[in-house]
Amino acid sequence: MSRWVYVNGRYLPYGQAGVHVEDRGFQFADAVYEVCEIRGGRIVDESRHLARLERSLGELDMPMPMSAKALGRVIRETIRRNRVRDGLVYLQVTRGAAPRDFLFPDPERVPQTVVCTARSVPLAKVGLEMRPGIHVVTMPDERWARRDIKTVQLLASSLARQRARAKGAGEAWLVDGSGHVTEGAASNAWIVSEAGVLVTRPPSHDILKGVTRAAVFDLARREGLEIEERAFTVEEAKRAAEAFITSASNAVTPVLRIDDSPIGAGEPGPFTEKLARALYSVTELSI
Ligand code: PLP
Repeated sequence: MSRWVYVNGRYLPYGQAGVHVEDRGFQFADAVYEVCEIRGGRIVDESRHLARLERSLGELDMPMPMSAKALGRVIRETIRRNRVRDGLVYLQVTRGAAPRDFLFPDPERVPQTVVCTARSVPLAKVGLEMRPGIHVVTMPDERWARRDIKTVQLLASSLARQRARAKGAGEAWLVDGSGHVTEGAASNAWIVSEAGVLVTRPPSHDILKGVTRAAVFDLARREGLEIEERAFTVEEAKRAAEAFITSASNAVTPVLRIDDSPIGAGEPGPFTEKLARALYSVTELSI
């Protein structure tokens, strides 16, 4: 739990922090967010996260509420006040609070809302050891058509994760109308083919272009691993040698079963293990 919360220029105790009932984040999901991992007191890939925040805002015709440098100061102060060494920092920017109207308020008169929280997550303390493998279940992708924008409009993702949990799985793999996996409810989806090629869906409006995904690309290039950016079907994934998910909160997490099909030997495979262990050798770690 975050004990101190940044809200519009002030650091407030958790129980007292809030935004207006007419905030457009609350009423229209008119807001974007970022989650960065904090590891050993350092922020993982801050520049990439802030660049994506700016892009998401731009796609919704919103400017950055302050410079990336100033947002970086807010992030650091929130981490410091919450004494987080290993965990996650969450940043949300909304279009602000205005009488409910589908049309945007005048940005000259309505300031954007900025919220930042930070909390310790014990899993991040796993250090260089790999995270335990998970099971995933596949289900139709019911989200909107602009999944490349990291909006807080997460109901379909929340329902998917909840349905996965009800089946004892750690993540849902969402499937498009042609039977291809788009991504996880809150992660990018990867397989390793029998030929040892890393396969993940190319960036488009269908998926969020993950920051951890980009780090895995950097790592794969450095290690001379082959990557194919293409969509894969559920059937192909079930036959894969290995599978894993990537996200700021899950790093590289092995997938050991998809629906009822064990993947590979049902244990984390060598490619996944290599990527999981070396991930932070390619990420930006800023203090
Ligand atoms: N895809 C979706 C839908 C996500 O919500 C996330 C992260 O929350 C990701 C992918 C992974 O992105 P990142 O590696 O930047 O955390």
